[in-house]
Amino acid sequence: MTDSFDILIVGGGVVGSSTAYHLAELSNSKVGLIERSQICSGGTARSCAIIRSHYSVPSNTALTVKSIEIFRDFKKYLGDTSLESGFVQSGYLILAPEGETSDKLVENLKMQKEIGAETMQISHKEALEFHPLLNLNDIGAVGYEPFSGYADPYLTTTGFANAAKRQGVELITNQGVKKLLTKGNKVIGVDTESGVIHAGLIILSTGPWIKDLTDPLNIDTYLDISRHSVITLKSESEYDFKLPIIKDLSTKNKMYFRPSSGGVVLVGTGDHGDPIKHPDLMDEEIVDDFIINQGRQISNRMPSFENARVTNDWVGAYDITPDWNPVLGEPDGWEGLILAYGFSGHGFKMAPAVGKMLAQKAVGIEQDIDISPYSHSRFKEDLLLSGAYGIGSIS
Ligand SMILES: Cc1cc2nc3c(=O)[nH]c(=O)nc-3n(C[C@H](O)[C@H](O)[C@H](O)COP(=O)(O)OP(=O)(O)OC[C@H]3O[C@@H](n4cnc5c(N)ncnc54)[C@H](O)[C@@H]3O)c2cc1C
Repeated sequence: MTDSFDILIVGGGVVGSSTAYHLAELSNSKVGLIERSQICSGGTARSCAIIRSHYSVPSNTALTVKSIEIFRDFKKYLGDTSLESGFVQSGYLILAPEGETSDKLVENLKMQKEIGAETMQISHKEALEFHPLLNLNDIGAVGYEPFSGYADPYLTTTGFANAAKRQGVELITNQGVKKLLTKGNKVIGVDTESGVIHAGLIILSTGPWIKDLTDPLNIDTYLDISRHSVITLKSESEYDFKLPIIKDLSTKNKMYFRPSSGGVVLVGTGDHGDPIKHPDLMDEEIVDDFIINQGRQISNRMPSFENARVTNDWVGAYDITPDWNPVLGEPDGWEGLILAYGFSGHGFKMAPAVGKMLAQKAVGIEQDIDISPYSHSRFKEDLLLSGAYGIGSIS
């Protein structure tokens, strides 16, 4: 194991792997990525991997517009025809109940278009042409993104990591970082299970585990960790893998669903979830109430799913900040350290562009998209990036 790097990334999820690839592209720095397990073994592996640009915070839309471009042309972007992201361009429909939420949706579509998002308001009739199984009786406005869809989290993450490796990034797997090493107010390296690694700059992308490394430095992450459940449902008939993803803002828990392989529908929520103390202490059992509630909501939205059966389930941890948006930048009072955490249940779709912006920041190049709104200090300065739809992963 090399014991010194110019830049060391800690955490091999989609964010760390994308950052590693972009650093290799942008600089001749000696870059390492250290992961305590295998690449893509954290939150990314449990992601529903939905990709859309519908947000009310403009910088979120800017990042996802760029990411969608990368997902759609992944092989070419990585310059390697053998690397896939598994992207399926199914389209994305966002449904708002009548009233204030519909007004906000229409307003947000305008902002998103100005930023370059491919999005539009469509009629109920058009929505039913795209997705004939829907019941839209209680819906006011419908937004549609024709070029959005979903990808494969494992293919995407290992795609970035392998492309980074081919360009000289050292991937160190099965090696956990035990603590950050400091000198004065500068982070100078990490202590691992196999010894010390020095680095000029460390990028921490350890998802919901970040507090293990930042708490000893008294860095306040302002994080809540919560448990989210996902179920897959199968009805009598096959669910086409190209049916649009649905985001249902009329439901209290901001339910979403999308097709998955095997003709099933994958159903999750964009709400706070169940608070947990640490991601390693997550109960893997799905509670009956969740299944009953999701079943009720889904059969309201798709009556043909009234008798659908649950075919699979899993849970995953969200790392939630006070405004449901990530931190991308230096922590207050420290040098030699960049934090990239707090993606609050919507980081997969942002990761391709975020990785590029973090790499540009790390090597001192002006970022294509301004990431200063995601500063760590915003929580202290009361500059929150709060979204129009209230708390949730669609901020
Ligand atoms: C159930 C669920 C559904 C989701 N659905 C969507 C969706 O549809 N669309 C979307 O955009 N987002 C979604 N998300 C959110 C998205 O998946 C995450 O925001 C994103 O994957 C976070 O990536 P990451 O690289 O920051 O973290 P992670 O993937 O968690 O990676 C962190 C890595 O750091 C490693 N690590 C931790 N501690 C250490 C250490 N001390 N030393 C070395 N390595 C360490 C871990 O092993 C892990 O591999 C979902 C999340 C969940 C849980």
